[in-house]
Amino acid sequence: MPITKTNQKVDVNLRRIINGADADVIQLYPIKHKFAWDAYLAGNANHWLPTEMSMQKDVEQWKSKTVLSEDERLALKVVLGFFTTGDSIAANNIILAIYRHITSPECRMYLLRQGFEEAIHTHSYQYIVESLGLDEGEIFNMYREVDAIYDKDVFIVGFNEGIFNPQFETGTFETDQKFLENLIVSYLIMEGIFFYSSFAVMFGFQRQNKMAGSAEQIQYIMRDESQHLNFGIEMINAIKQEQPELWTPEFQRHTVELIKKGVVLEYTFAQEVFPRGIFGMNADGFRKYIEHIADRRLARIGLLQQYGSPNPFPWMSEAIDLSKEKNFFETRVTEYQTGGALNFDF
Ligand code: FE
Repeated sequence: MPITKTNQKVDVNLRRIINGADADVIQLYPIKHKFAWDAYLAGNANHWLPTEMSMQKDVEQWKSKTVLSEDERLALKVVLGFFTTGDSIAANNIILAIYRHITSPECRMYLLRQGFEEAIHTHSYQYIVESLGLDEGEIFNMYREVDAIYDKDVFIVGFNEGIFNPQFETGTFETDQKFLENLIVSYLIMEGIFFYSSFAVMFGFQRQNKMAGSAEQIQYIMRDESQHLNFGIEMINAIKQEQPELWTPEFQRHTVELIKKGVVLEYTFAQEVFPRGIFGMNADGFRKYIEHIADRRLARIGLLQQYGSPNPFPWMSEAIDLSKEKNFFETRVTEYQTGGALNFDF
């Protein structure tokens, strides 16, 4: 993007998430989208690295013939099989597609932080795989071998593709809706739904005092993902405000249909990879849980809830009770004013 020589200062009112009229993506100030700056600060306050977590007890339990059942061993591997793809797909989408079209420098700041966090998450899975001595080929290639993972990933990547095209530009009604659709799929479905039955399984381990080092890392990841989801929701709502013409009844119906498809893919994944259930969570529980969180995502972008399922896994709300947590909650208390923002999006 060329730099124009001028003493005319940037007008904050022209700043937009996409299609910013001044299109100055270099100057952080004046900040218009404060939620992005707040998310960036919260992300920094929550910084962590997987290697801070001891895997010693996990290694002992994994080696022991008696601690973990065969179903539990398989569950850990399948969950890792999905996780190893989820954060890589998210990172590619942020760096190669979303970033280029975002014209708010403060949103770009957070996207850089988010991209780094996705890398930390992939590092975490690598650290678990390496510590436990798992077969890397089995775990990292699983998404190309197991239908239930493949189907989820193909769904997401299919929507990303149009945006990845170097010829793609925002600025028309069609391309702006296409971009908004990509945000909805990436943030609400990938970050906000597709991780959650796997999160529930990891906290199942934790509740039984099994694989605590692995589960603790997943807790940190869930906290980060929850922030990614919140940021995505804020961006979507800001675009709705800045370009209300995009949010047509037809597009709203389309969004609901997409989320419903995501829900089916997610509970099908849970039912296929945990056919006998796991840690007391059965097929019906997973379905209700996924429907419950999908309703919450829909409400956050102003759409009608579709399911009305009560949360069958209320203990998921406690899973986030982390030792490093205090700082984070304090940050959110002061920086997020909206009701419900303190709740993690389970
Ligand atoms: Fe993420």
